Amino acid sequence: RGKTLSNLRIGVMGGTFDPLHHGHLVAASEVAGRFDLQRVIFCPSGAPWHKTTPTTSAEDRYLMTVIATAADPRFEVSRVDIDRDGPTYTVDTLRDLHEGFARAHPHDSAEWFFITGADALTEIVGWHEPDGIIERAHLVGVTRPGHQLADPGLPEGVVTLIEIPALSISSSDIRQRVSEGKPIDYLVPEGVARWIRKHLLYADHQHSGGAS
Ligand code: ATP
Ligand code: MG
Repeated sequence: RGKTLSNLRIGVMGGTFDPLHHGHLVAASEVAGRFDLQRVIFCPSGAPWHKTTPTTSAEDRYLMTVIATAADPRFEVSRVDIDRDGPTYTVDTLRDLHEGFARAHPHDSAEWFFITGADALTEIVGWHEPDGIIERAHLVGVTRPGHQLADPGLPEGVVTLIEIPALSISSSDIRQRVSEGKPIDYLVPEGVARWIRKHLLYADHQHSGGAS
């Protein structure tokens, strides 16, 4: 108490996390190592308005994210996007996290890094209020199999692109596998696989909209 945490370096990883998988964890861990981040805050999105697949409840996505990150002292999970009504915009995520930090650590400052995969990075110019995003965080784009890691054409110094070990894992593929009865072992943390099994998530993925 009273000790200044001079210039904390904090990463933020937004996503649907439906479910969280090892690709997300490797991305967060690699960026934390390269940028000397003390924390990475995972922020599961609110209702996935931009996805067409059946919706997993925000609570299930939040809890799987907690289970997956619980053992790593660098990792935290925030409810800011889950608890805010309406679609999730990254600018709101960063604004809420900054406010929360200022409230909790009124005497400290932080440097913020927003972590995204190559697919999400190339969409960034189309994101809501890109200027508000880049004034609140340095962007870090990481390689992702199947996607070109291209500079999104933002001003100099706003984005850093880095290569990370390739993990060709996606949440869509995990959901597909579960719906087809294929294994997801070692693609997601064991606790996440157990949660999916226990709560029968994604089991009716293929039949959504059809079965009555
Ligand atoms: P979905 O298939 O449902 O879109 P996803 O696997 O893309 O799920 P998201 O929750 O959409 O996961 O992604 C959150 C963030 O993690 C995004 O910035 C995305 O680019 C990044 N990401 C996801 N998977 C990987 C991976 N295998 N390697 C690197 N980055 C990843
Ligand atoms: Mg995605």
